[in-house]
Amino acid sequence: MVIGHFGVGLGAKKFAPSISLGTLFIAVQWADLLWPVLLLLNVEHVDIRKNNPHFPLDFTDYPVTHSLLMGAVWGLCFGLLYWLVKKDRRSAIVLGICVLSHWVLDLIVHAPDLPLFPGNSPKVGLGLWDYPVLTWLAEGLFFIIGLMLYLKTTRQKTTPENGVCGYWSFC
Ligand SMILES: [Zn+2]
Repeated sequence: MVIGHFGVGLGAKKFAPSISLGTLFIAVQWADLLWPVLLLLNVEHVDIRKNNPHFPLDFTDYPVTHSLLMGAVWGLCFGLLYWLVKKDRRSAIVLGICVLSHWVLDLIVHAPDLPLFPGNSPKVGLGLWDYPVLTWLAEGLFFIIGLMLYLKTTRQKTTPENGVCGYWSFC
């Protein structure tokens, strides 16, 4: 999933308004932010599929960034770090859930290539990426719901012009 993750980050503001949007976006996208780094370090691996018109990448090995167990571990790390710095238990829990949400949303769209844990794990995925229209509907749904929650929860701090420009430049 792509923009759906950002929808979760936007929507999380309702449950933990004190967390900055930037921190929430890092949390929901942590797996995809770390993944290219581990590719470059040859820790995780991907193949290029030339015969798949919908999605050219074959995620052969990415247990550190995209296994369920490591998603929970990363979520725990994020939550613990946030709690140590801010002493805000509720926000720390929300942040940890945001990190784990990445795996759950990826589960919907990925082919069965998501491991449950590092090592010899079964791989899962519901394969929505094989259906581009449904994929974009799901992405859009997550993003719009998250955006609506965000807009209901927050108020702009600058002039209306700056707020509108900033908002649309983001979208
Ligand atoms: Zn991902």
